[in-house]
Amino acid sequence: MQAIKNVVIVGGGTAGWLAAAAIGKIYQGKVSVTLLESDAIGTIGVGEATIPTMMAFHKLVGIPEQEVMRATHATFKLGINFKNWGEIGEDYIHAFGQVGRIFWGGEFQHFWARSQKLGMKAPFGAYCLEQEAARAGKFAICENPVLNYAFHFDAGLYAKYLRGFSESFGVVRQEGKIERVEQDADSGYITRLHLENGYTLDGDFFIDCTGFRGLLIEETLKTGYENWQHWLPCDTALAVQSSKVGPATAYTSATAHEFGWQWRIPLQNRTGNGVVYSSEFADRNWAEKTLANNIDGEMLMNPRLIQFKTGRRKLGWNKNCVALGLSSGFLEPLESTSIHMVTSALIRLLRLFPLRGVQPVLVEEYNRQSREEAESIRDFIILHYHSTRRTDTEFWNYVRTMPVPDTLRHRMDMFVESGMLFLGGDELFRSNGWTQVMIGQGFAPQHYQPIVDNMADNEFRAYMKGFSDHVASNLRLLPNHEDFIAKYCAMEEFKAQPA
Ligand code: FAD
Repeated sequence: MQAIKNVVIVGGGTAGWLAAAAIGKIYQGKVSVTLLESDAIGTIGVGEATIPTMMAFHKLVGIPEQEVMRATHATFKLGINFKNWGEIGEDYIHAFGQVGRIFWGGEFQHFWARSQKLGMKAPFGAYCLEQEAARAGKFAICENPVLNYAFHFDAGLYAKYLRGFSESFGVVRQEGKIERVEQDADSGYITRLHLENGYTLDGDFFIDCTGFRGLLIEETLKTGYENWQHWLPCDTALAVQSSKVGPATAYTSATAHEFGWQWRIPLQNRTGNGVVYSSEFADRNWAEKTLANNIDGEMLMNPRLIQFKTGRRKLGWNKNCVALGLSSGFLEPLESTSIHMVTSALIRLLRLFPLRGVQPVLVEEYNRQSREEAESIRDFIILHYHSTRRTDTEFWNYVRTMPVPDTLRHRMDMFVESGMLFLGGDELFRSNGWTQVMIGQGFAPQHYQPIVDNMADNEFRAYMKGFSDHVASNLRLLPNHEDFIAKYCAMEEFKAQPA
């Protein structure tokens, strides 16, 4: 067990530079950090939608949000608009906010279920300010009301920004392509990287951020991959940037098509688009036509094909190597969870950091938490496919009827029977997320908690209307999303005020 003094990060994509920023800043003076990246290989170039945990990570590491917004042409994101998922023609938003309120007697879906029985028309989302603001194109960071939000940003510019941030804390960047990896003959630990240009790089601890190939974690350490393609069959994306048309929405769009779905991510200056599909059911021709027929604006580049295998690396931490980002696995981009999984893995690593040497108990704990996190996010993403009612193609028939993990089956059965959700304390998606997706896709509970019936009908109607009126009055206070971005980016130092 050798004390860790030299950390080497391999890969300069989003994962690599996030690791450099976090370890470089938080362990400044305790370890030296070198990041190796290859200009010849480049980065994946997608991954532009985030979730609110990103904001918490920025605060933790001290990354100034306003600077990131300016540097990356970012827009705000209040949720994801899912079109054609339950059935063709339907749409709903999975918003980041609270729907209604949680009461001691039951979660809000029970109240909403009774309101439906009484013939009240307001959809579930009408009780969530983030959802209504997203639909209305409104946004503000203010003291009251407080919105829960994330960013859409240019991934290349974000990595560049993080590079400058990391270098200011002493992280050293090295350019070069790894040709060979040297391991200790007894322990198998990685000791030295040999580069094509003849240089070598020594380290005590290595962070593999080399993307899908997993140059250290897989090609060197042969860690193994748990394949989840039978549950998440999409394996290909065709991505393209297009010119900006109209105001930027404060949400990501995820529109289902015959054999997969399409993302639309608006930035201040352009739009990111991509079709995600299963190569078992469709080919590149279909993807090209679908993309061309469904993007607004002009294509700014030739579409790029990206292939992936959904699943996870069996161990995120193996010997003296931790895999972050795509080298640790990939679920798929539907709920914009990959960058979150980099930041949550980094927080885990910072807490378990082996300054005194790699000890099995730290490794086991890290791997246990990583597995639980990936499995719970996996279940949530599978839910979107499996709870469809679409029967128009073999793709939708497959995902609608496929066996799903027992954990997900139990959760869905429990919800249909009782309207209840029982979540583990560390799960990323809470009942707000699960209920919005389930109800949004027409997966409604058959029963609700009887305690909700304790109010008389008139009293109950007034009570529910009070909630939706409160959302509506808060909505009127919010400015237009793009106007707020302009003001926010122009101000030297933004301080939240009441709206
Ligand atoms: P990469 O960007 O691939 O970087 C790999 C790095 O390793 C590069 O710097 C490369 O030069 C270096 N490297 C490789 N081999 C060598 C070598 N031999 N020597 C030296 N250096 C080497 N995530 C989200 O959170 N939101 C999204 O909306 C989202 N959309 C996505 C859409 C698609 C289609 C895909 C495939 C992914 C998406 N992701 C998304 C995931 C996201 O793109 C990644 O999690 C994120 O970009 C991190 O990638 P990375 O840094 O792990 O890998």
